[in-house]
Amino acid sequence: MATGKQRQLDDIKAKILANKVCPQLAKTATQLVFGDGNPDADIVFIGEAPGKNEDLKGVPFVGAAGNFLNEMLDTIKLRREDIYITNIVKYRPPDNRDPSPEEKKEFLPYLQAQLEVIQPKVVVTLGRHSMNCFLPDLQISKVHGQPKRIRLRASNGQGEVTLVILPLFHPAAALYNGSMRQTLIDDFVTIPIIMQKIAT
Ligand code: URA
Repeated sequence: MATGKQRQLDDIKAKILANKVCPQLAKTATQLVFGDGNPDADIVFIGEAPGKNEDLKGVPFVGAAGNFLNEMLDTIKLRREDIYITNIVKYRPPDNRDPSPEEKKEFLPYLQAQLEVIQPKVVVTLGRHSMNCFLPDLQISKVHGQPKRIRLRASNGQGEVTLVILPLFHPAAALYNGSMRQTLIDDFVTIPIIMQKIAT
């Protein structure tokens, strides 16, 4: 049975479709890839945009980058069912090109709405596109692995939302780059330590 949070997430997904967000991307994509995992999760992972496998299955991070991510989750004793995972842009860009600034901007309110429903303790951004949505002036090569607390205007315009953002390299970028791969693995193992610090 859908939980209250799952129902709210379903509503956000319906709004993306009803509001015809990024209609050009919607035309070339197979389907909307909204998000997957546990709506009650303490950790949300955010990637860039679906690739070919994600577009076909309708689930984020199910290709090579997803397998690497699953391996790293395993090292910190987390399963996909324990976390929530989504992307900024929710349709596959043609030929896996980078999402454009306009596409990211169009999807951002829906991503923020997802985070406001889930209320995670930590938001792990994967790659610079995802990080720059929340921390536009920072460089991932300088701040990866360092949690940052940010405040955003709440999407209903009433008050503010506080998020802890942990920027990490993107698993697809790190997959075939030995030193980036090791840095990502090293940053990943700090996630439980950061979670514990936040809880105390
Ligand atoms: N890369 C992403 O950023 N997201 C996915 O869902 C898959 C690969």
